[in-house]
Amino acid sequence: RESKGKFPKYPGLERFKLLEKMGDGAFSNVYRAQDLQGEFQEVAIKVVRKFEMNQSQGDKHLHPEFKKQPKGVERANILKEVQIMRNLDHPNIVKLVSFSESPQFYYIVLELCPGGELFHQIVRLTYFSEELSRHVIVQVAKALYYLHEEKGVVHRDIKPENLLFYPIPFIPTKNPKPKGPEDEDKADEGEFAKGIGSGGIGLIKIADFGLSKVVWDSQTMTPCGTVGYTAPEIVKDERYSKSVDMWALGCVLYTLLCGFPPFYDESIQVLTEKVARGQYTFLSPWWDDISKSAQDLISHLLTVDPEKRYTIQQFLEHPWIRGSAEETTAAA
Ligand code: ADP
Ligand code: MG
Repeated sequence: RESKGKFPKYPGLERFKLLEKMGDGAFSNVYRAQDLQGEFQEVAIKVVRKFEMNQSQGDKHLHPEFKKQPKGVERANILKEVQIMRNLDHPNIVKLVSFSESPQFYYIVLELCPGGELFHQIVRLTYFSEELSRHVIVQVAKALYYLHEEKGVVHRDIKPENLLFYPIPFIPTKNPKPKGPEDEDKADEGEFAKGIGSGGIGLIKIADFGLSKVVWDSQTMTPCGTVGYTAPEIVKDERYSKSVDMWALGCVLYTLLCGFPPFYDESIQVLTEKVARGQYTFLSPWWDDISKSAQDLISHLLTVDPEKRYTIQQFLEHPWIRGSAEETTAAA
């Protein structure tokens, strides 16, 4: 698909053939790549550029904040992201394959999610049906349950760009091979192998642990720090940081169901005010046909007081999640 020599040569990455750029961030590039050793499996490689304190030739293009950052801090952050991922093993979390570095770059080799970002699917489909939204959000919630309750990890950057997926294979029935452009629309009359909504979205995986943090020690099942000497604000901080993910989960669910986020304004100041006050509405006509149960669930997540906001357990017990999970199994 891509022409040769299109990507830079990265020292130390010779065992991989870069195939396609999948993500393009300020500090990192993510590539789809083939592992030339072993089983020729495809992986995703997140290449993060290292920066020096003393400015050299290329540095004038960098973000001013980035120039100031001492190398040690940045290294610690990358190592933390990798360290946290190393300790995770869940079907709804992107797996770390390996980590290495060269003088200029860090290489984080990850399980490839061939579908890419959920974000693009929201754009493609405008919004998701309740069934498809549930199919997606339940998987995100299962990953969060694992992180919060089993690993003591908070993600802190849950958003549609960091939710990746595996597509469900599309099985054309009517017209498997379009012969010309006039046939193209007919080619769509197939169905997805598992037929969840019409989204073609299968397994969902949480990615990007760049901002994640360990809030309690999974060895001792206590908040991080010395047992018995833990201050109340540390215990509370643990709860508050988990509730940060729950707020984000509410924003994602809202966005899935209607196609636009609950909080938006051109002005950052106004937007910040709206968020601080929890000022959002189920805007008509877009929300008119969405169930009251879904709205109820969202309202328990977009609750300003973190003490009153739903935890991940409460989320999983809500009728909109549970009741229809039964429906789905009954139908299957
Ligand atoms: P950043 O810290 O720059 O946001 P991410 O880890 O979120 O880095 O990766 C950036 C983008 O790269 C993602 O939003 C996604 O589009 C793509 N990407 C990252 N990891 C994978 C993966 N395992 N499979 C497919 N695409 C990925
Ligand atoms: Mg990201």
